[in-house]
Amino acid sequence: MEQELNTLQTLAKAELNTVSSSAQLEEFRIKFLGRKGEFSSIMKNLGKVPKEDKPRLGQLANSVKKELESLFHTKKQSLNTSSAASDDSSVIDLSLPGRKPETGKLHPVTQIMNEVCAIFESLGFSVAEGPDVEHDHYNFEALNIPAHHPARDMHDTFYISDSILLRTHTSPMQARIMETQQPPLRVIAPGKVYRCDSDITHTPMFHQVEGFLVDKNVSFADLKGVLTIFTQKMFDKKLELRFRPSFFPFTEPSAEVDIACVICNGKGCRVCKHTGWLEILGSGMIDPEVFKKVGYDPEVYSGFAFGLGIERIAMLKYGIDDIRLYYENDLRFLSQF
Ligand SMILES: [Zn+2]
Repeated sequence: MEQELNTLQTLAKAELNTVSSSAQLEEFRIKFLGRKGEFSSIMKNLGKVPKEDKPRLGQLANSVKKELESLFHTKKQSLNTSSAASDDSSVIDLSLPGRKPETGKLHPVTQIMNEVCAIFESLGFSVAEGPDVEHDHYNFEALNIPAHHPARDMHDTFYISDSILLRTHTSPMQARIMETQQPPLRVIAPGKVYRCDSDITHTPMFHQVEGFLVDKNVSFADLKGVLTIFTQKMFDKKLELRFRPSFFPFTEPSAEVDIACVICNGKGCRVCKHTGWLEILGSGMIDPEVFKKVGYDPEVYSGFAFGLGIERIAMLKYGIDDIRLYYENDLRFLSQF
């Protein structure tokens, strides 16, 4: 009987190794561990063995049974786990359309900003960036806007302290660069500017590009030439330019520049308020007072400066009539650019 038990143990282990499905495992259970299985039929003979051998053989039979049962349960668990795994993989439906990874894009304002910079760089301008948090001196004083000057009222300034503020335009870079460098200069300064103002054409933060050129014998004709090339490249067509006399404390004479409406080509439409013209930037010849403050001799040097709003250009280029759309982070809007 001892030999029968050992043989059963070896056979059962070997057979269990070949089991690869729940059905086979159930066959194994019936064959070896079932009520009419091989183990039971061996145990029927336990009554016939000599009395002194009974305890030893009983113990052996028990340990064989326990081992086979535990091997059976281990196998059952491993079959369940692997069948669960194969259920998961069987969920893959190859006929489903693929999931497209979302690709990021540059914000339309950034795209226009890069385009503007590239056009001026092609004209020999270099790019300089300055701080958003600025001294009152560079934002106003150095640009010929002393304290209590009425022009300050137009700026709706965010003050941080009496002398520190969020810059209201990118023009402070004029003073910062002229203070440390000698002409000839051809510079554009792109960046964020801040004004306490919000409606469909204003946001508290927006982007400007300031540009200026200082050299001997610079005239208003040079300003017109540079801006004409810029607007033609920016809007991909020959556009008429109109210079309207205006006032800025840091330029003299000053002019606001209009382009023929890009929507209606000057015929008149809702966007240009039926005038046929769109205002796109402010400009002028740098005021001699600004030169004196940085130590340039206005009898030797002259120059022009201009400032344009990036959002304004983007609105005209894409025909958008509400500036706030650029900052609502609606992907349906932004992904069109
Ligand atoms: Zn128009």
